[in-house]
Amino acid sequence: MGKKRSIEEIKKKISDGSAVIMTAQELCQVAKTGKKISFEDVDVVTTATKGLMSGTSAILAFRIGNPKEFVKVKSLSMNDIPCYVGPCPNETLGLVDLIIYATDTSTSNPDYGAGHLLRDLVAHKPVNVKAKTIEGIEIKKNLTINDIYFAKMLGIRHGFKNYNAFINPSEEPIKSIFTVMDMAPNLSEISFCGVGAINPLENDPNFDVLGIGSPVLVNGALGYIIGSGTRSSQERPNLMTIASLFDMKPEYMGGFKTARGPEVICTIAAAIPILNEEVFNNLKMEDKNVALNLVDIVGRKVITTVDYGQVWGKKSIDLVIRTKDNFQKLHCENCEMNSECPAEKLCPTEAFSTKTGINRLLCFNCGTCVWTCPKEVAEGRLGEIEWNGKITPVRLRQSDRNGAIRLMNELKVQIIRGYFPVTLPTSKPEIFTEKLEDEREEGN
Ligand code: SF4
Ligand code: SF4
Repeated sequence: MGKKRSIEEIKKKISDGSAVIMTAQELCQVAKTGKKISFEDVDVVTTATKGLMSGTSAILAFRIGNPKEFVKVKSLSMNDIPCYVGPCPNETLGLVDLIIYATDTSTSNPDYGAGHLLRDLVAHKPVNVKAKTIEGIEIKKNLTINDIYFAKMLGIRHGFKNYNAFINPSEEPIKSIFTVMDMAPNLSEISFCGVGAINPLENDPNFDVLGIGSPVLVNGALGYIIGSGTRSSQERPNLMTIASLFDMKPEYMGGFKTARGPEVICTIAAAIPILNEEVFNNLKMEDKNVALNLVDIVGRKVITTVDYGQVWGKKSIDLVIRTKDNFQKLHCENCEMNSECPAEKLCPTEAFSTKTGINRLLCFNCGTCVWTCPKEVAEGRLGEIEWNGKITPVRLRQSDRNGAIRLMNELKVQIIRGYFPVTLPTSKPEIFTEKLEDEREEGN
């Protein structure tokens, strides 16, 4: 029989300060040195992922008028992003409930999406609301999150167990949500998603200790797993989560401009209590232990399988993108492209400025500024993928490992201080998959 420890023992050790809590990144670093880690060495491992999570929505409720002023609101937008009013009618109450899809785009600005809107709300920025009632009354007002009494983020597909790398084998450039510009043809560049060995579900692939009711940090706020998300599968599960927008931190979330319009950034962190040797043995420990499929950007057919060690595990790769010292004086001030700087224009999070450099609270470390500035003002090695005898450079990261490490460090500190509850779930999430045509016909 394998070695075990109970959740009560772990909780007791946390409260008396004797628990060993490690981040998945620390495990990777120790494993790389060749030092052996065993079940006895660690009680809790914190894990996290930060990336584009299209399956994000928000539910808000707030006052838009006085009672009896109108019967009910028919349509509403926030910063010109259409919201979905209902399901509650709130008849004659002057209140509105609504749902926001985080991938919706502003009708007045194609670069502004609901991911930007949710970050603006969390950052306490004023948001412009336009509503129309069923009687045709138009209401316009500015509000901040302080004027909203209910605000939750509902992740319908959060924290995927890693993802894919994308390449374009065709002879034409391709636009995609997986690129910032058109992806160059003829297998010449790669974009990829997934943070590798530190991803939560990569380290608990069978939902042994994470599940319904497990606490998680969603964009820095304490939230919960409420099930598996849409398109979850046994091989590649994801999570449905809920958390309060009031407690989120803007640096973990936001909008991200892709070649197909704005996407949404989210960061999820989870704690894995090491209850037994099986849970311990499922920890990934090194990026080279995590498979990465290289797929055709159109149709997503797998071309080959490499591993995340190629994109995150090498010493030569920089997790953080920085600007050169004194870059403005040395390069940007006299640059012939200054008024139309490609790095500033294409930065998907609007973090890059030719005047002030990189705003660290907005930067996703995606690498776009590294290869769009010909004067090499931005520095950071994105690496390359070696596959079937070829070497192809990485042009875009759609996951921010550095941001994920920040949240897993934050989670570790919260556990040590007793702010984050390390508990077991009430049950395993059921995985709902699409039925095949013949199964449907048989009524399964
Ligand atoms: S970042 Fe590069 S391209 Fe942009 S203004 Fe500066 S030197 Fe020119
Ligand atoms: S790495 Fe450069 S382009 Fe990417 S988000 Fe940061 S500043 Fe913008």
